[in-house]
Amino acid sequence: MTNSKITDVFTDDIQTQIETIAEVVTASKYVVGMTGAGMSVESGIPPFRGAGGLWTKYGTPRMDDYSRFKKDPSGWWKRRINEEIDEHIIELRDALVNAKPHQGHHALAHLEAMGCVHSVITQNIDALDEKAGITNLIEIHGNRTKLRCIDCGNRVALGNFVPLYTPEPCVECKGIVKFDTVMFGEPIPDDVMKNARSEINKADCILAIGTSATVRPASGLIWIAKSNGAKIIEINPVKTKLTPICEVSLRSTAGEALPLLAKSLSK
Ligand SMILES: [Zn+2]
Repeated sequence: MTNSKITDVFTDDIQTQIETIAEVVTASKYVVGMTGAGMSVESGIPPFRGAGGLWTKYGTPRMDDYSRFKKDPSGWWKRRINEEIDEHIIELRDALVNAKPHQGHHALAHLEAMGCVHSVITQNIDALDEKAGITNLIEIHGNRTKLRCIDCGNRVALGNFVPLYTPEPCVECKGIVKFDTVMFGEPIPDDVMKNARSEINKADCILAIGTSATVRPASGLIWIAKSNGAKIIEINPVKTKLTPICEVSLRSTAGEALPLLAKSLSK
């Protein structure tokens, strides 16, 4: 068998599974997309874990970021502005600055606009879902282009990944302001967690895309949906802990599979 023959077989197989996924989505009343690091990798953003991950390369960072920030917020911001930061943060930040949504992000936005996907819960902080036009979006680990008050939760757009000045105190309550991104040791903000749980409780189908399903609380949400009776569809180039509980588990990337799914559902 030649290589091209193998590719044909593989492509046929993907198309068949895409049709099956389209049938499950069509039969569902409320579909929630859940996206993880695998989605962003295709936009050139390195993951933290696994082969090529930032922590694999530079070592696992300290897990007490949030308590260190709270002890000395102005010192933290000063170091950030002066670029006195870990190498893995510089590599991530530079990747974020250059990243653009890929065709998988655009297809997911299209699926939402068509009413096939009702909301997206993302673990990614890169704002690419928002840029692609996804509107009912829950960024469970925050959005790196925003700032958030740790006292009242008010968010403002930074509009950039690179802060040039220490942010002013919160306009609402004069509280301490940090990146919206959730730090190690920081709880997921209440409003975000409440929205995520509410979406999960409405869902009868979860589209789990590029998530290894190992990072809480996002991984826990998928299991809650499953125990509520939701069907789980996985799109991931590799097997994950979710694979055994999936209705369909497609070995593919978001950039390949989601445009095919959108095309299939547009028929
Ligand atoms: Zn505030």
